[in-house]
Amino acid sequence: MAKVPIDIRTGAIKTERLIGIDLGTTNSLVAYMHGDEPSVISSKTTHEKIVPSVVYFDDNFAPIVGSLAKEFQIQRPERTIYSVKRLLGRAFEDIKTELDHLSYTINPDQSDKVCMIEIQGGQAGKETRHFTPTEISSMILKALKQRAEDYFEEPIFKAVITVPAYFNDAQRQATKDAGKLAGLDVLRIINEPTAASLAYGLDKQKDGTIAVYDLGGGTFDISILRLDDGIFDVLSTNGNTHLGGDDIDQALMSRFANEIKAQLSIDIFENQSHKQALRHASEQAKQALTNEDETHISVDFGDKTFRRILNLEEFDKLVLSVVEKTKRPCFQALKDAELTPEDIDAVVLVGGSTRTRAVKRFVSEIFGGKTPYDSLNPDEVVALGAAVQASVLSGDNDDILLLDVTPLSLGIETVGGGTVPIIPRNSKVPIRVGQEFTTSVDNQTGVDIHVVQGERELVKDNRSLAKFTLKPIPPLPAGMPRILVIFALDADGLLSVTAKDQRSGKEQSIEVKPTYGLEDSEVERMLQDSMEHAQEDFDTRMFVEAKVEGQAMADSIEHTIERNKVLFETLSTEEQEAVVKITNALKEALLTEDRELIQNLTVQANEQTTHFAQVVMNNAVGEALREKSVDDV
Ligand code: ADP
Ligand code: MG
Repeated sequence: MAKVPIDIRTGAIKTERLIGIDLGTTNSLVAYMHGDEPSVISSKTTHEKIVPSVVYFDDNFAPIVGSLAKEFQIQRPERTIYSVKRLLGRAFEDIKTELDHLSYTINPDQSDKVCMIEIQGGQAGKETRHFTPTEISSMILKALKQRAEDYFEEPIFKAVITVPAYFNDAQRQATKDAGKLAGLDVLRIINEPTAASLAYGLDKQKDGTIAVYDLGGGTFDISILRLDDGIFDVLSTNGNTHLGGDDIDQALMSRFANEIKAQLSIDIFENQSHKQALRHASEQAKQALTNEDETHISVDFGDKTFRRILNLEEFDKLVLSVVEKTKRPCFQALKDAELTPEDIDAVVLVGGSTRTRAVKRFVSEIFGGKTPYDSLNPDEVVALGAAVQASVLSGDNDDILLLDVTPLSLGIETVGGGTVPIIPRNSKVPIRVGQEFTTSVDNQTGVDIHVVQGERELVKDNRSLAKFTLKPIPPLPAGMPRILVIFALDADGLLSVTAKDQRSGKEQSIEVKPTYGLEDSEVERMLQDSMEHAQEDFDTRMFVEAKVEGQAMADSIEHTIERNKVLFETLSTEEQEAVVKITNALKEALLTEDRELIQNLTVQANEQTTHFAQVVMNNAVGEALREKSVDDV
């Protein structure tokens, strides 16, 4: 059976890929669920996983996104936009205090509602332009979308995007709008701590209280989540919007800067490129000490070189001076949730800065010595969780929605070219269904079984799978034979159809593979067709039913008259004429497409012949009694 992802609620086939995006303040990532495992999609050219959340505008205002843009941060800080997430969905009034931290300009005049980032015309004659944080974010999202499209070699239209738990409605809406601008339908916005918990599969534990400690580049967030029956609820959040790995880099830098001044008489803060070189070296040293106990630092300043060894002991002290500041927000969050550290069942580490061992130890201490979840890359874990959520939404997940189901109904042809479904679509396989049928014509010696697939009312609009004839069967009047048709679909998608004459025991069967040669696109088209033609198909079915019923009525009246000529002639001339008249009218109507007329005349014919049927019945009963009494004698 083809694994066709189907949305059980809507019945729609999901063939579109859904990606998960972590739109971060410092870094952004895009991830996708490959089977059971989410993984971050790396660049096809650079193989980098992280896209720095930085946009640089060249002189023609062409945006450059990611690591390339980051390189312009020093040379052209006024054209290089970073940390735009801090501005997203916020009014100028709200972000006034942020302005000191930024190297680019926010236009206060144009900012009575949405704040506007101002970029000067780079070339002579070019005017100043303004961009909203939503627009800048959309450029980052576009780069992530492009990365996924390069990887899959197909267009991507749908995504799940994460936001901090404390984001308000306006900030969430701005994130959605940014997605829309990037050409992404944002199916869901989920909280970053929830995504991280999903990445660790904590939702499978059903219940519990989780602390998510997220120390990124420039922000610290602590979230306390309550997991109830697999559903996450944010109990409290706290944090520091200006605390993160950047502060560790800064602390290292200022220590080294003092030493450089003393040893080499260079003030690195007077020279942008010196400053940048030292910043780079400091961050590298920090990252090296994630796994090593000692690292060598060497930075060239023209003809002079600064060399130094940094060991873990010195580094850890420095780290502690920064992470100390996360303690209070953690306790405040616990207090707001009316919990103590002992109430926390699991601690999840998020953010690149939690890779540092001293940070891990510190977090463990805060939460009563619990070992935090840290097996996944902390800078990837949010994106991974977004991918998990995306796959659930797309129905791409084995234990949630991806069932082995029949994408289209399987059935047989009935009188009048109609279709009777035997295994309805979306049935879980394996499945076995039996249904009894009879004949519509007297003295049939064979029954044609036409196996069809699809949702339409008429056989001609569905897909024909197989045909066979069950024969010989004993000739009987129409409606008397009992033909049992069994459809059995096994786990491999093999359908066996058996038809059995219940009286004679005669049996015949056939095997077909309903998905053979059936493309997903065709399944989708067939479903779409059936939805588009739903009303038309309903009308058709009603018409076919009316016609079959009317024909059966007319046939039955004529047969009864033929077999009971003498009795018929005992009726009054008016009654005889009325019966013949209504039967002829019905037969004529059956040649038309007028469903209502056929239905009315069928009802009238039934009423008009009730008396005659009574006469025939009484006579038959009388004869039976007579025969019986003769036998009894
Ligand atoms: P954000 O969520 O703010 O976008 P991230 O979670 O990507 O940011 O974290 C970025 C921070 O993580 C930076 O300060 C970076 O220096 C730091 N970082 C990355 N790798 C390491 C590492 N191996 N050791 C310590 N810090 C790291
Ligand atoms: Mg983050």
